Amino acid sequence: MKKQSSGSGSTKPANTVLPYQTPRLRDHYLLGKKLGQGQFGTTYLCIHKTTNAHFACKSIPKRKLLCREDYDDVWREIQIMHHLSEHPNVVQIKGTYEDSVFVHLVMELCAGGELFDRIVAKGHYSEREAAKLIKTIVSVVEGCHSLGVMHRDLKPENFLFDTDGDDAKLMATDFGLSVFYKPGQYLSDVVGSPYYVAPEVLLKHYGPEIDVWSAGVILYILLSGVPPFWAETESGIFKQILQGKLDFESDPWPSISDSAKDLIRKMLERDPRRRISAHEVLCHPWIVDDTVAPDKPLDSAVLSRLKHFCAMNKLKKMALRVCFINFFIFFPSCI
Ligand code: ADP
Repeated sequence: MKKQSSGSGSTKPANTVLPYQTPRLRDHYLLGKKLGQGQFGTTYLCIHKTTNAHFACKSIPKRKLLCREDYDDVWREIQIMHHLSEHPNVVQIKGTYEDSVFVHLVMELCAGGELFDRIVAKGHYSEREAAKLIKTIVSVVEGCHSLGVMHRDLKPENFLFDTDGDDAKLMATDFGLSVFYKPGQYLSDVVGSPYYVAPEVLLKHYGPEIDVWSAGVILYILLSGVPPFWAETESGIFKQILQGKLDFESDPWPSISDSAKDLIRKMLERDPRRRISAHEVLCHPWIVDDTVAPDKPLDSAVLSRLKHFCAMNKLKKMALRVCFINFFIFFPSCI
């Protein structure tokens, strides 16, 4: 299933992403070690030649862009990153460069690692800390929605910490599946990642509410170490998303606050019209009131499950990672 075309209507040559000429990346920057690998791009440490400032550079080989639509998708990602650049928890794009072989996106460096890896490495955390993290994630969602952007691929791997320090900021880094939308507009292309994808995406009729669902999935995992809808296969996961019951009976849920469960139920409401909005999440007592989310350490089993989930994800990443879910699924009786 392809992504929505940006419909920019530009008159770019068939093999360019940017509608303008750029200097060469190497005139300004040196590329250093590889930081990560995505579906399209490889991200490198990138050092400014004159200031010695460190950045991250996502380099996308143009041979991976197979049609005009793929070029437009990269252009849209760049536009959306610029659009959101005022948000304190969205990685800032510093510049874009294009030559005959690559498109390079130079952005703020996030050297502090992925969200779940950091929690696992730290070895302990509480509902209160989970509340702070989810507040940041949902504030990015609110920022996107207030500017007419649907993220469409919210998942823990797309949130990195800016530094190694204790006061590190959590930053959203990947807007590769994000699109601009108009109020009342519905999309139908099935995109996202298993575990996090909202039921209405699978039913091919959705709006921005899908991002709140995905944030709800992240919250459920943050508090229990396992995803709310789980199965061995992708189709099994989708069936669970469409029909499965939320488990609040197994450990650790009996010891989790009622307020946290109330918020999760509201975020994982299957009917998008009844689902809580990003703004409402940010006003929920579990998020707002410091005395509601307990600061006592979560059961250590949660962290071991989270560690297991991260390890399994990394193993399965290439197999299970789906940017375009090539899966047609239709369960009319579910919502
Ligand atoms: P793609 O859109 O091609 O899937 P991503 O945006 O997911 O690529 O980036 C791939 C990987 O690069 C990420 O998983 C992460 O490890 C690393 N990465 C991305 N952006 C940054 C950044 N700003 N700072 C540090 N590492 C980054």
